[in-house]
Amino acid sequence: MSYILEGETGEWEVVIGLEVHAQIMSKAKLFSGAATEFGAAPNTQVSLVDAAMPGMLPVINKICIEQAVRTGLGLNAKINLRSVFERKNYFYPDLPQGYQISQFQEPIVGEGIVTLDMPEGPREIGIERLHMEQDAGKSLHDQDPNLTFIDLNRSGIALMEIVSNPDLRSPAEAGEYILKLRAILRYLGTCDGNMEQGSLRCDANVSVRIRGEVALRTRTEIKNINSVRFVMAAIEHEARRQVDIYENGGSIIQETRLYDADKDETRSMRSKEEAHDYRYFPDPDLLPIVLDQEFVDDIKATLPELPDVKKSRFINDFGLSADDATTLISDVEIANFFESAAIISEPKLAANWVIHELFAILNRDGLSIAKSPVSSVNLGKLVGLIADNTISGRIAKDVFEIMINEGGDPASIIEDKGLKQITNTSEIEGMIDELIDANPEQTQQYREGNIKVAGWFVGQMMTASSGKANPQMVNELLKKKLS
Ligand code: MN
Repeated sequence: MSYILEGETGEWEVVIGLEVHAQIMSKAKLFSGAATEFGAAPNTQVSLVDAAMPGMLPVINKICIEQAVRTGLGLNAKINLRSVFERKNYFYPDLPQGYQISQFQEPIVGEGIVTLDMPEGPREIGIERLHMEQDAGKSLHDQDPNLTFIDLNRSGIALMEIVSNPDLRSPAEAGEYILKLRAILRYLGTCDGNMEQGSLRCDANVSVRIRGEVALRTRTEIKNINSVRFVMAAIEHEARRQVDIYENGGSIIQETRLYDADKDETRSMRSKEEAHDYRYFPDPDLLPIVLDQEFVDDIKATLPELPDVKKSRFINDFGLSADDATTLISDVEIANFFESAAIISEPKLAANWVIHELFAILNRDGLSIAKSPVSSVNLGKLVGLIADNTISGRIAKDVFEIMINEGGDPASIIEDKGLKQITNTSEIEGMIDELIDANPEQTQQYREGNIKVAGWFVGQMMTASSGKANPQMVNELLKKKLS
């Protein structure tokens, strides 16, 4: 199903490429030993290098190189054994060096692929490159009516800029791409993916063209979008804006635009710079990075199981549906939670409980899986007790409620509250006999062919047993006794 914007002059297709800035998980910055922790008091994590004091020299942090290589491998990408840091020159108050150390001609990672699970099938999106660079500081405009303050804590933090090819064709695909990329980074442990804290930020390059056109038209770039929802909304708006302009005989100018979530619109920020405006040149303070193949192979050997492989395994080994598997692998912590519950119970039932019952509670209380009020082991035990018929699915919901509110082990809750399922044939038969004796009218109706009355009997049985009678046995034994 393709995403098309209808216009009077034809059907318009949207072409999107994304540049994602992902903060590398590392205790120290890219070229200094200053800390990177989020939320520290302003300017408390700034070394002389980060403040660009005269004469300071950058020293590369090896962990950041490892993380970039690990990410490249996770994106099925080519690792360049030689890469070069260059200076990208521009002035901005939060950039004390007057240039950003980045990579340009020779990035550390080349072409790769990310596969999206779209409802209409898998879509392969090309990665053009991944390069390392420093983050800038932050201008604070909201501290004083007349002054702007500068916080350099972020100055020099290591970023990976991951650039996709213009392969995305709809806001939905762009949203999926970010979610998938974020999942991969989190599996790899190379970026925490926290968009609210700015550790994952997205720039979207958007253009439109008449369906069937081969050449790309002029694009605009929407800067620094900090949520998946906003990325999708910004692209949608920008594409419609461009179509309207073309439909009215206008043309698009290449520029950088800003998405205003409050007004739900994009507006012009500045005319787009070309690479040559930045006067890139190799940083004379830093040698090219030259890696051994062995260094790369060692990292490759420690890669974790990634989302696509995990998904196939959940489908093949656990018999999950593709939809359930997709949901469960979307986040590494969810996948781990599910798996530790599944291996001690029954995987398909465990998937149902995680996706339906547990997610409902987490959504209700605004919790992440890490803050789940029920542990994976206890959820697995509960599912196991349903699977082995100790309790019914209905009683399990009551037990689950108690586990959430009071905590505890499901088996002891069931024991304490006497919730164990009644599976004793003679006990159930006895209850049915009593019911039939007490309700001759309904019994008569059933025997005269009104078999719907059976449902009423089941309901009575469940009430009489406080929901504890095994529903399957009740059904079977009722049928036998009534006829
Ligand atoms: Mn960048």
